[in-house]
This record gives sequence, structure tokens and C-alpha cells, in this order.
Amino acid sequence: MQTDQTIPPVLQIGAFPAGAQALLDARLDLHALAAIDADDALRQRIGAIVTRSNYDIDAALIERLPSLRIIATSGVGFDRIPVEFARARGVVVTNTPDLLNAAVAELTIGLVLALLRQLPQANRFVREGAWSSGAFALGTSLAGKRVGIVGMGRIGREIARRLAPFDVDIAYFGRTRQPLTFEWFDEPAKLARWSDILIASCPGGQATHHLIDAAVLDALGSSGMLVNIARGSVVDEKALALALERRTIAGAALDVFECEPLGESPLRALDNVVLSPHIGSATHETRLAMARLTIDNVVSFFTTGQALTPVV
Ligand code: NAP
Repeated sequence: MQTDQTIPPVLQIGAFPAGAQALLDARLDLHALAAIDADDALRQRIGAIVTRSNYDIDAALIERLPSLRIIATSGVGFDRIPVEFARARGVVVTNTPDLLNAAVAELTIGLVLALLRQLPQANRFVREGAWSSGAFALGTSLAGKRVGIVGMGRIGREIARRLAPFDVDIAYFGRTRQPLTFEWFDEPAKLARWSDILIASCPGGQATHHLIDAAVLDALGSSGMLVNIARGSVVDEKALALALERRTIAGAALDVFECEPLGESPLRALDNVVLSPHIGSATHETRLAMARLTIDNVVSFFTTGQALTPVV
């Protein structure tokens, strides 16, 4: 490994896919947590952390690293990093926005269609030989439906752009009205009442904790469906499981969960829910691009004094 002498040793938290790991190994002097625990001099010299958005970086770790200047997360969400705490100690936090918009929006469209057309069940139906005993249950059309988007940001707008050719009506909720042609609702419950399909694509964290709660699910109604590609914390998962069990909403497709990986959960037994293991950005192309930007943020910070994509 040939690394630039101006870049200090880097602590890696969490696992990266093989291709991304190879890029990181080639450009950064990486160390695991166990290594810095065993070597006090190394711990003192760690200047950067590289991680992914599904790992926790806590304040205690930041406090243990006196030379830390930058935390570069590979992902757009930074709800598991104490950003204010880091900032107060002069530590910059960077993420990888935009690069993953297409992958996450593509997965969202896939989840919507899988949910409406019951694709996982249809796949099982054919594999298990049930087809010879009768026809598969009818699905629901996407055309003509109202789709509400909670969080019309970078990813939300890409979801909307991809949904438009399906002949749907689109509206959104966010804290601020944007200069968009879509209708804006000032409360998630109002958007849910309007929507046939409600898609969550806002950030996680305290400000959006259980933004989609029992009342919002109630407003979505018995033919409504929820798709969550945002963060598990955005949806009250207990209330959701209950609504799905009681069919007070028709179905859900979930890429993210309050506790990941999803362990024992009533969601796993329900036939009106499609589950995926937090794979919004999980394509070869996207994860490589994210790893490159993560590295470039660290290199740029130590060579020019400026990170490329600091979180605001
Ligand atoms: P973004 O550009 O910052 O957009 C976030 C949107 O959410 C904005 O439109 C914002 O509008 C809205 N929002 C922010 N805080 C809100 C609040 N407290 N209440 C209601 N709306 C709020 O972010 P992005 O790049 O689109 O990413 C969105 C999120 O997607 C990420 O934070 C991450 O959690 C999630 N994500 C998931 C995956 C996955 O694998 N499933 C992958 C990537 C990202 P206002 O400011 O007007 O409220």
C-alpha cells in the first residue's frame, strides 16, 4: 500500500463490500478498532474515521481520538454520528450525497411494484408448484394511483421522476414547500389521507422519529400502502405491524427497520409486507462510487484543508 504521507492513519469502522474495501486499502492507512485499542501511540495519531451509514460512531469514541479531524461516512444518512458533538471538537463530518440517488430510487420503484403485484408471493407460487392448482391472486395497478412522498429531497425527487411515467399523481410532505409542481401538504397525516401509496424518503434521527405513527397509518387507510426506504426510526414499527395485522392498511414494503438486522419481528410472518435488508444503495456501481468519494473526502481534507461533501 502506498499512501500519501500527509494523510494520517485512519480508523475503519464497519465492513465495506470487497471492491470498495480494495479501494480503501489502496489509498488509506487503515486500522481496525482492535488495533487502536492495543496500540496507544496509534490511537493518538488517528486523524480520520471511515465508516458506513449503518454503523454507530459515538461521542466516547470521538473523545478517545485526540488527532481526529474528519469522519467520512459512505452513505447519505448521518443519523448515527453525533454531528454537533464532532463539530464542537473541530471534527468535520462528510457523507456521499447524490451518488446513490439512482440506486435508492430504483429500489423504491422495485418495492412499489413488488408490493402492488405481490412479486415475492408470485415467485414462491410458481416455485412451489401451486400454479397447477389455480390462478394467482389479483394484484393492484400502479397507474392512476396517488403517491405521497415524505421527504422530497435528492432521493425523493428521483423517486418522483421515475414514478411519473407510471401515470400516477404525486404530492409530498416536508417542512418547507418547494418550487415544484407537485401538491405540498403541511402534515404527514394530511398527505397520508390523500395518498394510496405513501413513500418515506426523509432522514432519520430525532427530528423524524416516528413521524409516521399510528395516526398517519390510520389516515393512510385500509387500501393504503406504505413504502419505507428512509430509516426504520421514521416509522413506528409496532404500530405498523398492528396496522398490517389488522389490515387497517393494505400492505407495506420496507428496506429499513428500527433495529437492523431485523431479528424476531411480527413483520416477518405477515403476508402483506415485502421486506428487503437495507439494500437501497447496494449495487456494485454505487458502492464503488461511494467508497471513492469517501476516500476523496479524506484525501482532499488533508491535502487542501477542504472536504468535498461536508454535511451541513
Ligand atoms: P435530502 O436531500 O437531505 O432530503 C431529505 C428530505 O427530507 C428533504 O426534502 C427535507 O425537506 C425532508 N426532511 C428533512 N427533515 C425533515 C423533517 N424533520 N420532517 C420532515 N421532512 C424532513 O436527503 P436524501 O439524500 O434525499 O436522503 C434522504 C434519506 O434517505 C437519508 O437521510 C437516508 O436516511 C435515506 N437513505 C436510505 C437508503 C437506503 O439504503 N434505504 C439509502 C440512502 C439514503 P425539508 O427540509 O423541507 O423538511
